[in-house]
Amino acid sequence: MPHRPTPLVAGNWKMNMLSADGRALAAAVAAGAGSIAAELAVCPPAPLLPVVGDALTGSTVALGAQDCHAEASGAHTGDVAAVLLADLGCRYAIVGHSERRQDHDEGDEQVAAKAAAAAAAGLVAIVCVGETLDQYKAGEGVAVVERQIAGSIPAGASPDRLVIAYEPVWAIGSGLVPTNDDIRAVHGAIRARLAERFGDDAHGIRILYGGSVKPGNATEILAIENVDGALVGGASLKAADFLAIGAAA
Ligand code: PGA
Repeated sequence: MPHRPTPLVAGNWKMNMLSADGRALAAAVAAGAGSIAAELAVCPPAPLLPVVGDALTGSTVALGAQDCHAEASGAHTGDVAAVLLADLGCRYAIVGHSERRQDHDEGDEQVAAKAAAAAAAGLVAIVCVGETLDQYKAGEGVAVVERQIAGSIPAGASPDRLVIAYEPVWAIGSGLVPTNDDIRAVHGAIRARLAERFGDDAHGIRILYGGSVKPGNATEILAIENVDGALVGGASLKAADFLAIGAAA
């Protein structure tokens, strides 16, 4: 049995809160993180990265961004370069979240380019994949995720710059969660595809589950084979809930 990587529990704060709330939430997470064995990360809205980074100073909690641009600099109004994220103290950048894929029409190729830019800047890319409800109902979940994995991981990717997050689109923010068997099947398929690409190094790549993870279901989900942590949305906005999920990992 290969050694299990240290689990990662990452909070995706999405487009919520003002700066004082972000500072307070980060401080509360930092204050409770010391006793948690899993690695914790928080991903605030981009303008709050300095504020949150400041509140995390001296703690074990990592800073992450919710997106990055595929290029290192240039005429891209409103976008944020991965090198700036690294400069602001980020360790992680989420790329290809389903809300970005939907709201901004991001496809696998663009997600792969963003993951490559993140890695080139010294960040670890959290590459998100997941099927829609229609695809799930049609029994296409594994096939869709395998296709996204093939297309969203950049050529020449380094396994230590990569985390995968399986987030069924229909489970995000809905309170719905796939069965344990569904999660086991998809995570197993992701691990198999990673092993084809990265050989033994695939076992060190963390595969997170995301979609309605709460303190009440975290222990069960995080015990499933090949689930190496969680990407948490709604429940990451309360420090106690986020820390409880971290403690379950
Ligand atoms: P949720 O969001 O935990 O609120 O379902 C997860 C995510 O979108 O990363």
